[in-house]
Amino acid sequence: MSEFDEKDKEQENDSHEIESRKETGGNEDSKEKAETEKKENVYEDVCFICRRPESKTGKMFKLPNNISVCNDCMHKTMDTVSQFDYQGMLNNPAFMNDLNKTMSDKGYPNIRFVNISDLQGEGGIPNKQKIRKKKKEPGQEPVLDIRNIPPPHRIKAQLDDYVIGQEHAKKVISVAVYNHYKRVATDTMDEIEIEKSNMLMIGPTGCGKTYLVKTLAKLLDVPLAITDATSLTEAGYIGDDIESVVSKLLAAAGNDTEKAERGIIFIDEIDKIAKKKNTTSRDVSGESVQQGMLRLLEGAEVEVPVGANSKNAMVPLATINTRNILFICGGAFPDLEEIIKQRLKKQTSIGFHAELKDKYDKETDLISRVTIEDLKKFGMIPEFLGRLPVVYTLKALDKEMMIKILKEPKNAILKQYQKLLELDEVKLEFDEGALEAIAEKAMKKDIGARALRAIIEEFMLDIMYEIPKDDNIGRVIITREYIEGTGGPVIDIRSASAANPDGLKLIEG
Ligand code: ADP
Repeated sequence: MSEFDEKDKEQENDSHEIESRKETGGNEDSKEKAETEKKENVYEDVCFICRRPESKTGKMFKLPNNISVCNDCMHKTMDTVSQFDYQGMLNNPAFMNDLNKTMSDKGYPNIRFVNISDLQGEGGIPNKQKIRKKKKEPGQEPVLDIRNIPPPHRIKAQLDDYVIGQEHAKKVISVAVYNHYKRVATDTMDEIEIEKSNMLMIGPTGCGKTYLVKTLAKLLDVPLAITDATSLTEAGYIGDDIESVVSKLLAAAGNDTEKAERGIIFIDEIDKIAKKKNTTSRDVSGESVQQGMLRLLEGAEVEVPVGANSKNAMVPLATINTRNILFICGGAFPDLEEIIKQRLKKQTSIGFHAELKDKYDKETDLISRVTIEDLKKFGMIPEFLGRLPVVYTLKALDKEMMIKILKEPKNAILKQYQKLLELDEVKLEFDEGALEAIAEKAMKKDIGARALRAIIEEFMLDIMYEIPKDDNIGRVIITREYIEGTGGPVIDIRSASAANPDGLKLIEG
């Protein structure tokens, strides 16, 4: 018997086996499974012509008998059909002769009759050749439910897990968010005549303003749009017009207007739209932007383009009501301290209670004494400030806070690196001196906590490069000397000795 014959026989045997299994009914379970799968349609549709699944081709044309054809193949077919020269074919006697001859001999040339049974059931393509649809991930429950908003102390407790220090800011923001979403949930935004809880956040760069808002939006599971006020200009001038912030929010909400209307808009660098001093021209990126924002802050119906930054004839528009949107503005207000200092000095420089002139020069948290008057002097217009009733300040980060930021938050940078090395079964530790050295270096850069990541990335590069080279390394301890460039990290080698329960041996100091 030839090799091919043997193979044929084997296949035959296989098919017999399958048949007999079917007959004995031993596969009832799998039959049931197939039935339910069919009902639920767990497989992706596959194009009958090119055999690509729906996830690759996009929506398909559905033909009778469960046959699907993708867009491309349908186009190609249509193109071919419409370009074919039927008339020319019929007028070509040689071709027609040929055709007639072959037809009378053996039937149509090159045309395989469609097997009708192929087209039944699964659209001509067995499930075996299909991809299962990806299961949709179950929607995660938000940590804080805005429909049933928890009391402020619980909101703050959640923020504590991520944001270090800034106790006052966390307290104020928790209360404001509680009040806001309570009114949204009970639909009493218009009935209760308290102003909307829009906020103005003042604090130096890198102290956690954006981070605080981002964390809050994540915990509440509401869409968040972050914009820089510097990019905004009065409508009609070059730059983004003011309503584009709402457009961004709509995009963040996945074009779901209802979700967007409960979102948060964070406008950073708000100090950059202060009224320009000594200007004779029209202040299109300063005072005019403040004026333009009044309507949004208060609550208005705005028409915004969907999926684009500017309105034009080609993009659809959506109407969004900003009444329930929480606006948070943030800025560093660099010269504000000077304004506060001057006011305080003026108040105390006359009469019996006169104080020393340089009394406020050394005060570190002068910014927390800010009043609306100071902000007006800075260049914010009264109407704008009136629509941001909650004003609070954040402190510049000190060394202790920096160290805490390194190791304490749930997603702390050190924890991230430790997790990464854990995958290589290496323990990563930082001694106290190292943490202090990192914090000291970051303080010098004067850009707040942003400096921390840059510093760590710099010295971790070598560690992340060298450690995976050697499987024997069990632990790495980062020291102050290593950070300061005067020594190396301590590296422990794995060993199985009973005296060392961790299985680590010190070899290098
Ligand atoms: P800004 O105040 O300029 O908006 P960010 O909020 O963007 O600064 O802070 C930059 C980064 O620094 C954040 O992504 C965060 O990781 C870290 N950070 C800043 N302040 C804190 C803080 N108080 N607690 C934890 N991390 C912080």
